[in-house]
Amino acid sequence: MKSLMNTQMAEKTPVDIILMSLPKSFEPFRLNYNMNKKLYSLAELLTELQAAESLFQQHVQNSVKKPKGKCFKCKQSGHWKKDCPLSKKKNAGVPENQAA
Ligand SMILES: [Zn+2]
Repeated sequence: MKSLMNTQMAEKTPVDIILMSLPKSFEPFRLNYNMNKKLYSLAELLTELQAAESLFQQHVQNSVKKPKGKCFKCKQSGHWKKDCPLSKKKNAGVPENQAA
């Protein structure tokens, strides 16, 4: 029994371990790997991962580039005035549109 468990443990290659520890964004990559049953060497895997990762980063940068909006209260982009942490802190419960 004990030796059987050891065998199963030993069958996990570093590649398998890396694939299992990948974040969810690598799910397509992992599925692809499982489907093709392609056996990477560790070096090959790392190369593939780096290529995939740079693609993900480009994607993330593209979506980050577009600002959600520019706040008129604190002049920071990324949120609107109604979502401004400043106005939430100071004017909790107080109607703030009276001046406008
Ligand atoms: Zn703000």
